[in-house]
Amino acid sequence: MEFVRPKIVISKCLGFAACYYSGQIFNIEFIDKLSEFVEFRPVCPELEIGLGVPRPTIRIVKDKDKEEIRLIQPKTKEDLTKKMDDFSEKFLKEFDYIDGFIFKSRSPSCGFKNIKVYSDLNGMVLNKDGVGLFAQKAMNIYPKAAIESEGRLNNLRLRDHFLSKLYTLAEFRKIKKMRRMKDLVKYHTRHKYLFMAYDQDLLNELGKITANHDNKKVQEVYSLYEKQLQDIFLKPPSYKSIINVLSHIYGYFKDKLSKNEKKFFIDIVEKYRDNKVNLAVPIHLLRAWIIEYDVSYLKEQSFINPFPKELVDLTDSGKNNDRL
Ligand code: SF4
Repeated sequence: MEFVRPKIVISKCLGFAACYYSGQIFNIEFIDKLSEFVEFRPVCPELEIGLGVPRPTIRIVKDKDKEEIRLIQPKTKEDLTKKMDDFSEKFLKEFDYIDGFIFKSRSPSCGFKNIKVYSDLNGMVLNKDGVGLFAQKAMNIYPKAAIESEGRLNNLRLRDHFLSKLYTLAEFRKIKKMRRMKDLVKYHTRHKYLFMAYDQDLLNELGKITANHDNKKVQEVYSLYEKQLQDIFLKPPSYKSIINVLSHIYGYFKDKLSKNEKKFFIDIVEKYRDNKVNLAVPIHLLRAWIIEYDVSYLKEQSFINPFPKELVDLTDSGKNNDRL
């Protein structure tokens, strides 16, 4: 299977430069591996607005009276909000497209979740619900892109979701250029089981749009499809719906398998349900049967191969995968 190479904007301190405020660099094995299969565009917004390395920390401060969020360096009392806003806007709008973002967690510039918000320069934490200024701008300009932090990508369920969304949307971006109905039909067919795992109702909606019984213009069909497609990836699929899809695919082989093989599969699905193995394990088993029984329809299914196989992690026991 040939995959489109997605473009990802990534925090530069995640393996590309020692630009963290303390002078650190964070080397992460998964990001290293990912670099072979995506186009990374590293950026350090704090360096870009003229801060050096090492540098005094900066923080998000909420002005009580105006309810405004400011980016302040307490040591110098410098207000960096405008510089950061201007840089972020200019940088992010330079691209034709961005498929995803990987942000450094806990950063008042890059963090996309749970960032400390202070009430003043003297250290009172108001809440931990803030978003870094650069990350906020990225989410405003690219609200449907795949977004994660390096920390959350340790969770294999979140990582699978991030990669599935990233590669599926990047592939759609490619077929959208030509806007041909036959490409859309092929795309929809290939992703049927993946979409079923995410949302059965939206899968049906996408099916109706693709069937185009009202003979809409191709351009309109594509834009209706894109809107629903983006909605399907709003959150990771539930365990229940993934098990439903595993069962559907298993149904293709049920009559061909021995009693022991059936038991083996059911045991693995139960282990997956109990969070003892990750999804790659039952999928691996199904893939072996797909090859053995040569079911070409399933070979093409993205649920079985949602992203390059080198990025599949079989090693994790699944115990760190929170049920979200
Ligand atoms: S978190 Fe963002 S701003 Fe901070 S060092 Fe890393 S890339 Fe630069």
